[in-house]
Amino acid sequence: MIDKRIVITIDGPAGAGKTTVSRLLAKHLGYKYIDTGALYRGVALAAKENGVDPENDDALADLCRRLSLKFVISEKGLRLVLNGKDITDRIRTPEITMLASAVSARPSVRRCLLEVQRDMGREKGAVFEGRDMGTVVFPQAEIKFFLDASHRERAIRRYKELASDPSITLNRVESDMKHRDHNDSNRDLAPLKPAIDAIIIDSSDVSIQEVVSKMILYIES
Ligand code: C5P
Repeated sequence: MIDKRIVITIDGPAGAGKTTVSRLLAKHLGYKYIDTGALYRGVALAAKENGVDPENDDALADLCRRLSLKFVISEKGLRLVLNGKDITDRIRTPEITMLASAVSARPSVRRCLLEVQRDMGREKGAVFEGRDMGTVVFPQAEIKFFLDASHRERAIRRYKELASDPSITLNRVESDMKHRDHNDSNRDLAPLKPAIDAIIIDSSDVSIQEVVSKMILYIES
């Protein structure tokens, strides 16, 4: 066990297993778990509901000023609350997924969420999952991981998560993921890439539990 409360960052592309790994690691350490992708999804949902063009930076800045995004623990588990409304069940649709990728490239949105995320990390004792946690949001984080996996493996994992919706096909998941990977890795601001001091783990051929065990060993050492 570690005796000091630290910030741990886990970055990587969609479907690499970040969410499950981050949750398990946070539970093991008795830390908070923060899913920063959910915050971008929350902004995307708000943009859609308010008819804000995802290319219009001024309108997005104005929208962001009026948003309050919080994680709340309820009997249903960890929930995302936007201006007092629980939006957890509405942010995982393919439409919001692609819209989140679009709004996340806008400077106004990144600026606004940078503050929100840093506020959430002030007390330390947290595992932050995202794309730019180790590079931009918490460059001083004590431990940084970058979790990757092959493209095909990531598409299959994401497809299994969404399989309850019969309108979703593996091909659609794979092509959306390619598009999203391209956007996330090639945008000017905070592109997806490992921090120079990140530990890179490939989860293609290892179980989630093995990944978590590797991380715990690393943290404890
Ligand atoms: O992790 P998740 O798939 O929920 O993230 C949704 C989108 O939010 C990503 O495709 C990415 O564009 C954006 N994102 C980001 N920076 C983060 C977390 C997510 O740009 N730290």
